[in-house]
Amino acid sequence: QSGRIGSNVQNLEIEGIKDIIAVASGKGGVGKSTTAVNLAVSLAKKCQLRVGLLDADIHGPSVPLMMKLHGKPELSAEKKMIPIESYGVKCMSMGSLVDQDAAIVWRGPMVMKALEQMTRGVDWGFLDILVVDMPPGTGDAQISISQRLQLSGALIVSTPQDVALMDARRGVKMFSQVNVPILGILENMSYFKCPKCSETSYIFGKGGACKTAEDSGMEFLGEIPLEVGIRSGSDEGIPIVVSNPDSAVSEAYSDVAHRV
Ligand code: ADP
Repeated sequence: QSGRIGSNVQNLEIEGIKDIIAVASGKGGVGKSTTAVNLAVSLAKKCQLRVGLLDADIHGPSVPLMMKLHGKPELSAEKKMIPIESYGVKCMSMGSLVDQDAAIVWRGPMVMKALEQMTRGVDWGFLDILVVDMPPGTGDAQISISQRLQLSGALIVSTPQDVALMDARRGVKMFSQVNVPILGILENMSYFKCPKCSETSYIFGKGGACKTAEDSGMEFLGEIPLEVGIRSGSDEGIPIVVSNPDSAVSEAYSDVAHRV
């Protein structure tokens, strides 16, 4: 198939996992990890699935902070790492294995080696779904991860800002080149509703991700507003779907979980 990137890659098949989905963004800082975390917890709590969360963002792992992970994974009798469980989700992140600063300078081959350890070297047990928090961008690392993990699909996160949407479209193209279906696009930081006067401000523009989804025939998975509770939940290691499960935002994450 023209435009398809090489298919002769060694895959990192992990036994016992039904589906692996990626949460991706073309650009950093748009809320990819926040989405991955809230989605994984929603899949476990609302959809009653057995869920894992793999933090493939080797250079900037956020999962330990956002999921309040402590310590290092223990080893099983077969010398595999046992994922650290938090809020009903089995988590694995580079941030739990090495000092944050150590991995920052790693180059491609080391990143792939680390990823191999964090997939096949882990006793994941039986999972219905493994959510992968991808590194931001559309380069070699993302392509290898997509191919080697045999992804069932990818969810794209973008803000409504043009520059983020442009990168999101690049992400869509990359996944289609490696034959990974796009599950849809979720708009994050869609608007801010002032808690004092209730006025809604479209800080990063309005409706951009919905239009991008329409233009490229993708499903639009909804809007997540800019909210203090989402940010503080991430920083405190208590995702908003845990701290405030009945909020509109938690409902929105639950809706995404049911649709993916
Ligand atoms: P990425 O993984 O794309 O780099 P993160 O998920 O780490 O982005 O989010 C970047 C920052 O923005 C974090 O501090 C996070 O808490 C915050 N954030 C993400 N989404 C929202 C939101 N909807 N409202 C408020 N803060 C958010």
